[in-house]
Amino acid sequence: MTDRYAVVGNPIEHSKSPQIHEQFARQTGEDLLYTKQKIELGEFESQVHRFFEHGGKGLNVTVPFKEEAFELAKVLTLRAQTAGAVNTLAIQPDGTLLGDNTDGAGLVLDLKNHQVTLAGKRILILGAGGAVKGVLKPLLDEQPAELVIANRTLAKAEALAEQFGDSTTAYGFDDLHGQFDLIINGTSASLAGELPPIPPSVVRKRSGPAAATIGYDMMYGAGVTVFNHWMLHQGAEQVIDGLGMLVGQAAEAFYVWRGIKPKTAEVITMLRQDRRRG
Ligand code: NDP
Repeated sequence: MTDRYAVVGNPIEHSKSPQIHEQFARQTGEDLLYTKQKIELGEFESQVHRFFEHGGKGLNVTVPFKEEAFELAKVLTLRAQTAGAVNTLAIQPDGTLLGDNTDGAGLVLDLKNHQVTLAGKRILILGAGGAVKGVLKPLLDEQPAELVIANRTLAKAEALAEQFGDSTTAYGFDDLHGQFDLIINGTSASLAGELPPIPPSVVRKRSGPAAATIGYDMMYGAGVTVFNHWMLHQGAEQVIDGLGMLVGQAAEAFYVWRGIKPKTAEVITMLRQDRRRG
């Protein structure tokens, strides 16, 4: 019988995960069916149990249920534990529910695919919500020289800096100083077309002798995101949006479920072509 998977969230209409996993299945020759399912608030636990009782093999979990998935999973991977959130659920052979978080691995994979070096670099990450929490450990595993977290609500950035230790520090947007090799926007400001108010001085410009700053927006959309547009205007070397991270986290989830790592490049290309067609 064909194994069943799904992505659950609210809203879910615009999720690209079914397209991505269909391509992965085709590429690897795996026999599976992947759908999307909207879950009403308050019904997450009952709907997840229902899915697995009816033979489902795995779920991707998106906004706003990642913390509930974390609570529900009986076994957690280390990266899910440090993230405090789960985006991948898998039923194990003994019937227990495994919770994993593949968002950070997806980001690091995408940065590597773009030949962005993280070791020894000064990294600034904007935001201190669920997405940022999920990527801090995988980023720190790459051994940057320093990782600065800046957030509108300073206390949240400070709590993360305390949790993640020595090479991590916290600032409010106004207090940022110095220049960074990589600036990652993990705020949801872009969703409203807004910019986190960071000083332009944090971007090292293309004109100087040292390599200019690289910008990464976890958000993605039809064109260049507001944040990436701003970064280019400040003289950034290169900007990358979050589409590759999305495909990367999906590839990691596919690996958790099927034990095979699909290739991401051709799927990213397909999604970008679809996006251009509108
Ligand atoms: P959360 O709601 O958990 O966190 C939102 C964060 O953005 C908080 O730090 C919040 O600050 C900050 N913020 C919101 N509005 C503004 C603003 N106007 N100015 C400055 N800061 C602001 O969201 P998530 O962490 O789940 O998602 C963040 C982004 O990451 C979204 O754009 C999402 O689409 C993207 N994402 C992309 C993924 C991918 O695969 N590419 C995966 C997951 C997320 P405060 O604490 O002060 O409220």
